[in-house]
Amino acid sequence: MAEETIFSKIIRREIPSDIVWQDELVTAFRDISPQAPTHILIVPNLLIPTLNDVSEAHEQALGRMLTVAAKLAAQEGIAEDGYRVIMNCNRHGGQEVYHIHLHLLGGRMLGPMLTHKG
Ligand code: 5GP
Repeated sequence: MAEETIFSKIIRREIPSDIVWQDELVTAFRDISPQAPTHILIVPNLLIPTLNDVSEAHEQALGRMLTVAAKLAAQEGIAEDGYRVIMNCNRHGGQEVYHIHLHLLGGRMLGPMLTHKG
């Protein structure tokens, strides 16, 4: 069994967060440390630690993450100008929270896609 992260508590609404979407498969909430005017995290309600752990059983939730990203981009008013979605995997990918999540970033001109860290 994978270990729960803070995101499970957010999904269950046990700790406060700015939830902007929740359905039976996914939850979306604003990042606590936003890197752009819009910075929303879209997570499956079921704990999947990394992208390496996905299987066909998760395809519905994984697909929903993208349709919700597009809906929220429209809701945030950033769809036309454009935005970026990112999923980090493990240490080299810069993953810090081991419950997969899609970052939805927009509202300003974003920089180059890859930066080196460490
Ligand atoms: P990662 O580096 O794993 O792709 O991204 C983790 C993200 O989760 C970071 O952008 C970080 O700011 C965000 N984050 C970490 N802890 C919390 C929290 O307790 N609440 C919210 N809303 N965001 C968090």
